[in-house]
Amino acid sequence: MAMNILTLCYLVASVTFIVGLKMLSNPAKARAGNLLAASGMALAIIATIFLYQNEQGQYLGNYTWIFAGIAIGALGGTLAARRVKMTAMPEMVSMFNGMGGLCAALISIVEFDHLQSAAVMATEIGLGYFLPVGTYVIILLGLIIGSVSFSGSMIAWGKLNGKFKDFSFKGQQIVNLIFLALMIALSVYLAFSRLDHAFLFYIIFLLALLYGLLFVFPIGGADMPVVISLLNSFTGVAAACAGFLYDNKVMLTGGILVGAAGTLLTILMCRAMNRSLANVLIGSFGAGKAGASGGGEQGQYKEITLSDAAVVMSYANRVMIVPGYGLAVAQAQHACHELEKLLEAKGVEVVYAIHPVAGRMPGHMNVLLAESDVAYDKLLEMEQANEMFPTTDVVLILGANDVVNPAAKTDPASPIYGMPVLDVEAAKSVIVNKRSMKPGYAGIENELFFYQKTSMLFGDAKKILQELSAEIKSL
Ligand code: NDP
Repeated sequence: MAMNILTLCYLVASVTFIVGLKMLSNPAKARAGNLLAASGMALAIIATIFLYQNEQGQYLGNYTWIFAGIAIGALGGTLAARRVKMTAMPEMVSMFNGMGGLCAALISIVEFDHLQSAAVMATEIGLGYFLPVGTYVIILLGLIIGSVSFSGSMIAWGKLNGKFKDFSFKGQQIVNLIFLALMIALSVYLAFSRLDHAFLFYIIFLLALLYGLLFVFPIGGADMPVVISLLNSFTGVAAACAGFLYDNKVMLTGGILVGAAGTLLTILMCRAMNRSLANVLIGSFGAGKAGASGGGEQGQYKEITLSDAAVVMSYANRVMIVPGYGLAVAQAQHACHELEKLLEAKGVEVVYAIHPVAGRMPGHMNVLLAESDVAYDKLLEMEQANEMFPTTDVVLILGANDVVNPAAKTDPASPIYGMPVLDVEAAKSVIVNKRSMKPGYAGIENELFFYQKTSMLFGDAKKILQELSAEIKSL
């Protein structure tokens, strides 16, 4: 009876995951979708703790340990999520993803231990070793994929918060391939030898951890979103392996959904940059390229005063705002919404052009602007925005740089060549707000700043927006 109710709970939880994931694709429903999927997960966990029975009909027990673990994890997660700044969100995602990978690897280690003990016992009573190959393969897959995801995510976390720098050495790709081949060969040997080779198992674990480090260290900073998404899909697959091991349907469904969603997101991001996954992983895009692309003399840039900028925008028919990482750093989303309302009161149409990798995580700008109650229908995707630039009077760029760099279209030598960007230069005039002429995340110069129709408005985004609003009010 208890197991039937448990199966029903798993079914309900699986449905909430699928519906929740679907709702995440719509900004207006995303919060509710997240909550729905989280409730499904809570139901699955509670039901497992109280309803699961083994073949002898025993319940899980160990409640003190289980609830102590849940309390520590929930407290840590809640504090981290409450304290994290929007700009540090990708780091946190990477850290949480790494923890998921570690969990999957630990499950494999525990289950390997169980199998080994069963094998030893079987020998003792004269039955010989009994190691089911299928289970062994799943354990090894969970171990390798989970460990790669864990160590890789830790490096991604360190790189995003500036603790680690890109690192590579000559012939690294070959070393990586050797590690991979070694792991596969040892795993096959271990799975089919049916011998007690616990030390080999731990060597595979070590190799997988090292492989994760070597795999992520050389990848250029600007490719981090793709790597994080890929590692996320790895964690999903590792969790699905654990679902197989325990014959747990909801774990399997959750793992497969994360694995599939992560893979699709990876593919979509590669497409958004017009590059193959292999090129992202081996190409080292954006690594140590400071000052690259069109380097040397770029000519003169011109500045615009606050009052001139206020006048130009107030008398425009349409102003298109392009938010970027700088807007997030300055926490200028509320000031931006304020400016939007003032311009609209003057009859100006205001819309936002959202580049898929603006900021530091997928959907960063949508989340940020939603926080300040900007209407969802004002957020244009890149293709829509690019169609509208030629009929736009003023483009106001707020702390964006790489996503508006025309070198992606014009300079085959540029490391971002081929990445689709916002065609801001098609508008009548462009105002760029940033604090200096320093490059953005990819470390490359931006020729847009030197164009005839571009004017620079230097300063912190929040302060500039507040001052612009004051100017517009006084007009
Ligand atoms: P960029 O990082 O290219 O540029 C941001 C600009 O903001 C900088 O040039 C900086 O110039 C300016 N800035 C910083 N602080 C402020 C401030 N307080 N006020 C005003 N301006 C400020 O950002 P983009 O959004 O254009 O591009 C995102 C980049 O990040 C891409 O290369 C993308 O690939 C990468 N990336 C994206 C991720 C994602 O998933 N979205 C994840 C990880 C990386 P200055 O110092 O002169 O002020």
